[in-house]
Amino acid sequence: MVVVIVQLFEFAQKTTLSAVAQSLQDLLTTGQANDQALTNAVELVDATKRYVLAGIVVLSVVFGMIAAHLSLRPLREALSMQRRFISSVAHELRTPLAVLRVENEVAALEVKPDHPVHITLKQNLQEIDRITEILNNLLLFNRVKSVNISAFEMVDLLSVAETVVERLRRLSGSKGVSLSLESAPTVNVYGNRAALEQAIFNIIKNAIVYSNRGGEVALSFSEISDRQVTVVVKDRGIGIAKKDLSRIFEPFYRSARSADNREGTGIGLSLVYEIVKLHRGKIRVDSEPGVGTTFEITLPRGVVSPVDKGSESEGFTYDFTSQ
Ligand code: ADP
Repeated sequence: MVVVIVQLFEFAQKTTLSAVAQSLQDLLTTGQANDQALTNAVELVDATKRYVLAGIVVLSVVFGMIAAHLSLRPLREALSMQRRFISSVAHELRTPLAVLRVENEVAALEVKPDHPVHITLKQNLQEIDRITEILNNLLLFNRVKSVNISAFEMVDLLSVAETVVERLRRLSGSKGVSLSLESAPTVNVYGNRAALEQAIFNIIKNAIVYSNRGGEVALSFSEISDRQVTVVVKDRGIGIAKKDLSRIFEPFYRSARSADNREGTGIGLSLVYEIVKLHRGKIRVDSEPGVGTTFEITLPRGVVSPVDKGSESEGFTYDFTSQ
């Protein structure tokens, strides 16, 4: 490209000079300048200037892209190293945690339920479950971010929702929050079952955790068409302040209020974000502090290719509003 630009310059220079020289010669021999030759030369120089400018713009863009690619390489490598590190730590921790869990369960069986040791062991078990869940979220977060987890297939979303509701029955019971699933026809989407289950799980779990005793969490489907389906999770919990709405999908972000007094890590929604993005879906949050929160995840129903890792959020939008 550089060579072409230089040659264009040379060509323009030569043409102009020879046109001027010719004109001078005509003027000296015939006493009249050749205006036509000069006009042609000026037009040619103008055209050449335009080509040269376009060439410079193209060159700058290409070089800019190459420079950005090269300068971001160390950052990409550092990020991928960080992910590998988190993955291996999480993997390593899972086995001793599983052993701890079994030992605590066995020990709890040997003490009477009202004994203080039994109560402590039960609390230990809850903490172990919590850490295991954090590790699972971290592992899945890394997989969604870095690897092609994309074993995509037709997934029955209703059965996913039923599984999640069953898994969370105990938690909702212990928190005194009612959990309902509105009946719906079978809804198939093209996606990754484990990832979709985790996304819906995280949203419903939040809805339960951020509700007060006596609260209600409802899961339903809306806007079912051939092209898409929307999963709606509605709670009447503490709600999300407007200033927090734009940040809740960031990894490790927790609103001040929830960080004070509720368990959590701030990973759940960032994982939901990545999963919805992977499925080329859309997520929307509507919330009012003290009144409640509604999360809506819209997923395309046709066969879609998963969003490439590292690509920008093409086909993915999130949208949050507060009344
Ligand atoms: P956490 O582990 O803190 O729940 P998440 O990423 O799942 O992390 O959520 C981020 C933050 O979003 C939470 O700390 C909480 O402030 C807010 N949040 C999420 N869901 C709800 C909800 N249903 N009601 C109120 N606040 C919520």
